[in-house]
Amino acid sequence: MLNIEKNLNSVKQRIVSACKKSGRLSEDVRLVCVTKLASAGEIEEALRLGVANLGENRVQDASAKYAVIGGRAKWHLVGHLQTNKAKDAVKIFSLIHSIDSLRLAKEVDGQAAKIGKVQDILIQVNMSGEEAKFGIKPRETDILIKELSSYRNIDIKGLMTIAPEVDDPETVRPYFRALRELRDKINAIRNTQYTILSMGMTNDFEIAIEEGANMVRIGRAIFAGDA
Ligand SMILES: *Cc1c(COP(=O)(O)O)cnc(C)c1O
Repeated sequence: MLNIEKNLNSVKQRIVSACKKSGRLSEDVRLVCVTKLASAGEIEEALRLGVANLGENRVQDASAKYAVIGGRAKWHLVGHLQTNKAKDAVKIFSLIHSIDSLRLAKEVDGQAAKIGKVQDILIQVNMSGEEAKFGIKPRETDILIKELSSYRNIDIKGLMTIAPEVDDPETVRPYFRALRELRDKINAIRNTQYTILSMGMTNDFEIAIEEGANMVRIGRAIFAGDA
């Protein structure tokens, strides 16, 4: 039986433990509840339990849920964004985690301008080099960020990565560490203050927190019955 309250408490406890282990404050880690597998009723339950940030990986699914839930939570787009969905995306999302090309960023900037919004974004970086993954290459990230500096209707807040699915999350620690180092390097070079590191999912969020994640995207541990 799915017990969202129990699952959510357990996730929060695990976040606190991971923070303790690495000498960090748990208030500094924001939980994005990824609701792509959750029903409208389950999302309502999560909201009642105080969840403030919801993540979806498809604009269409988010639009349907947004129509019911609206602004009672902040909406995060965690999955890939197609340019032809940018218009709908800027209407819904507080933060788009998956900007990985100049073309996409331009489109989001243009659509945000049309509705008078400055859209907060993260740059998605493919740290593992897996072919099938979206995300810009680490060595091209700084160039993209430089190119985006003249766009007025997007505001870069930080970096995001998705680690490969592995049995032992220790295996992906180097990717999380490398994303933090990349952020720090870019901040040093460009004199920017990108703060957000969106990394860590059900399988690997504790390792991600130990490596500096301050935004974790968790779905199954909350909304899957056997978690
Ligand atoms: C589904 C998804 C998540 C959540 O994954 P879980 O394994 O369910 O915790 C996080 N980030 C992205 C990009 C996703 O698509």
